[in-house]
Amino acid sequence: MADTTPMMQQYYDIKAQYPDAFLFYRVGDFYELFEDDAVKGAQILELTLTHRSNKSENPIPMAGVPHQAVDSYVNTLVEKGYKVALCEQLEDPKQAKGMVKRGIIQLVTPGTMMNEGHNGSDSNYLTSVFSTKTGFGLAYSDLSTGEIYTTHLKSFNDVLNELLSLRTKEVVYEGALTAKEKDILKKSNITISQPVKAEKEHAEVSYAVQKLTNPGEKNATKQLVVYLLSTQKRSLAHLQIAQSYEVSQYLQMSHVVQNNLELVASAKTGKKMGSLFWVLDKTNTAMGSRLLKQWLARPLLSKEAIVARQDMVQALLDNYFSRENIKDALKGVYDLERLIGRIAFGSANARELLQLSNSLEAIPVIKQALFEAGDETLAKFADDILDLSEVAKKIRKTIVDDPPVLTTDGGIIRAGVDEQLDRYKDAMNNGKNWVAQLQAKEREVTGIENLKVGYNKVFGYFIQVSKGNVAKVPEGRYIRKQTLTSSERYITPELKEHENLILEAENKSTDLEYQIFTQLREYIKTFIPKLQALANTVASLDVFAGLATVAESNNYCRPSFDTDHQAIKVVAGRHPVVEKVLVDGEYIPNDVRMDEATSVFLITGPNMSGKSTYMRQMALIAIMAQIGSFVPAQEAKLPIFDQIFTRIGAADDLISGQSTFMVEMSEANDALQHATKRSLVLFDEIGRGTATYDGMALAGAIVKYLHDKIGAKTLFATHYHELTDMDKTLDHLKNIHVGATEENGKLIFLHKILPGPADQSYGIHVAQLAGLPTRVLTEASKMLKRLEAQGASAVEPASLQLDLFSPSQADEASEAAETSSLTKAQEQVLDELNSLYL
Ligand code: ADP
Repeated sequence: MADTTPMMQQYYDIKAQYPDAFLFYRVGDFYELFEDDAVKGAQILELTLTHRSNKSENPIPMAGVPHQAVDSYVNTLVEKGYKVALCEQLEDPKQAKGMVKRGIIQLVTPGTMMNEGHNGSDSNYLTSVFSTKTGFGLAYSDLSTGEIYTTHLKSFNDVLNELLSLRTKEVVYEGALTAKEKDILKKSNITISQPVKAEKEHAEVSYAVQKLTNPGEKNATKQLVVYLLSTQKRSLAHLQIAQSYEVSQYLQMSHVVQNNLELVASAKTGKKMGSLFWVLDKTNTAMGSRLLKQWLARPLLSKEAIVARQDMVQALLDNYFSRENIKDALKGVYDLERLIGRIAFGSANARELLQLSNSLEAIPVIKQALFEAGDETLAKFADDILDLSEVAKKIRKTIVDDPPVLTTDGGIIRAGVDEQLDRYKDAMNNGKNWVAQLQAKEREVTGIENLKVGYNKVFGYFIQVSKGNVAKVPEGRYIRKQTLTSSERYITPELKEHENLILEAENKSTDLEYQIFTQLREYIKTFIPKLQALANTVASLDVFAGLATVAESNNYCRPSFDTDHQAIKVVAGRHPVVEKVLVDGEYIPNDVRMDEATSVFLITGPNMSGKSTYMRQMALIAIMAQIGSFVPAQEAKLPIFDQIFTRIGAADDLISGQSTFMVEMSEANDALQHATKRSLVLFDEIGRGTATYDGMALAGAIVKYLHDKIGAKTLFATHYHELTDMDKTLDHLKNIHVGATEENGKLIFLHKILPGPADQSYGIHVAQLAGLPTRVLTEASKMLKRLEAQGASAVEPASLQLDLFSPSQADEASEAAETSSLTKAQEQVLDELNSLYL
């Protein structure tokens, strides 16, 4: 390009380094976008598209945003999954010789965005994946808090599940991705980024990986930190030591299960309201809220660890006054984790430092409240809380009470902090006083009554005399500087001298203030690991206090665990969310009593009677128990579950059709492949997505497989009444049903779980209540009997499974296929099953 200007050349050079980002190129008060960036950006951001060098043959498309408003434009782009490279002027254009030096100061990406607008209780995770010979190392971090976690996984599916569970927006991926894998990531709105080569040994990297031994985890963490450093282009002192975890350390649930159970968001709205998190989140800080969310995604498996959490909840429940004092004090604690991040980042202003000191000042109050309870557990917890009052004191002593937002304009540092600064301020004040007195003095000397001393940016201080009084101006001493329509402005050498003193003192003073401020920030940086430890403790205390509050106000009980027996005893259990949102009527509590010998509850009952609620209630109680929370029941004795599987469809996603059926089958398959005796399985209306008989046969075969081969605690709701006969052949299966009755000719759902199968002719009964003619009802009853008789001979589920999976041949379904003569429907079922069990 022969006619490229030096500026455009500079632009092209920089752009070449960031081809996949929008380049925001600073020119004066604007950030300019050029070429494709401008065309695309103008469209997305609704900017006016103009052209540079309009007269040339190839005008360059251009669009600009004012620098004050840049954040909101950047956020809009990044939230849509794009990256933005911020290119600043690195020197004062007035002092630059030739082209102003420019460079990228930050690359903002979906996984590294940490704008203020972010909801405090949401984390934004950047994830890094590093493929190894045996699998994958995965590491993730929230840049705003600096926490890093890492693990290793076997398959891409495990990786995908982790990415989706974390709601990662961006993954730095080392290794080959198939087109299909790329497609899945794209559909999940995850931006894929290339790893960056480290330019040198970074202190942050060696700090982060210091405890890691697994090479996959180490490499993934390295790659993560290097990417963060290369995008943020500054030191990141708040990045924490990476903590390694095993997925199997926690109760495992796929992201589908987490969504189905509405742990942190309602399935319908995607919002917090209506989720388990919504009920449990009575925290007082954003840190506590984020931590509770993390706990919900990773319930514990260690009884000891769960009981330790329960002990804290119990102690806070028992000590009302301490708890209330703690909650009050917590209200004064700001988001320490993010404050620390901003301090490390160098973006914290004086007000934020005061927020830090306010928060630190609340800590002794919290400790005191914990000790006052006179409870051993609370006292022990209090002992572990660091007291960082020295940091708070230093901030208080340095920063004025109500500092401005800007850190560069002075007005931040208290008097008495620095002698030199005090001298500058004295000089400034003396100068200003002298000027203030000048007006009175000059009026007296000259006899000009309306003489004024003023100031403007261009001329500095001046003496103003109206035209009528110009004759009285002392010749020689006043120097004329500016003529206005009705007045003249003068200076005197004395005035200029004081002006210089004032301005010089002012400049030096603001510079020095900024210097003292950054020194203070640096001083605080040396406490970062301690501050982070403190933030962690405070966050968990906040969660404990919240869980105690929830337990008290909702009348929860403390569950106990029996890890030697796989038995469930929940007395008068409730669904924690449904009981809160019921509009009419009381929630009807239900027991779950499953002894060690029972593994399957086959649940029948009319639609809308409460089958699904009952099943979900069990899963939520198990999850609550394993995060250390109390549970909505009178009494609960539970095993510790290793995994939870669900096949629960919202009624409206059960529209028939192959794809829904496939989803249903693949979720069922997940359970059949991975569930153990220690798992909890919820299957709701499985087989509904296909034709009646093969659906029923599949449902039956799945029940039998879970019963014979897995032994997981299974709640299986079905509308295939025929399946209830299975209790005759399956020893560990029990029928239960949800009761309903008739009152004054109206159908009443009792929502009560009762033993045995539901009354089969229920539909006809409902029709009767609706007032259908007797003839129709009689006819229907007859027809039902006929169908029942036929159904039993055509495909009687229990006998079908005996054909397919008689105990001796359970694993050889194909043999069974050869030895029995199958109907077409049965063959199809067999095919499905074969593919499931492979
Ligand atoms: P099903 O799965 O049998 O179709 P649901 O479990 O979806 O029925 O329950 C339908 C509705 O009945 C729920 O939305 C809730 O309002 C109400 N319900 C369910 N269980 C109870 C209960 N134990 N007490 C009170 N109301 C309940």
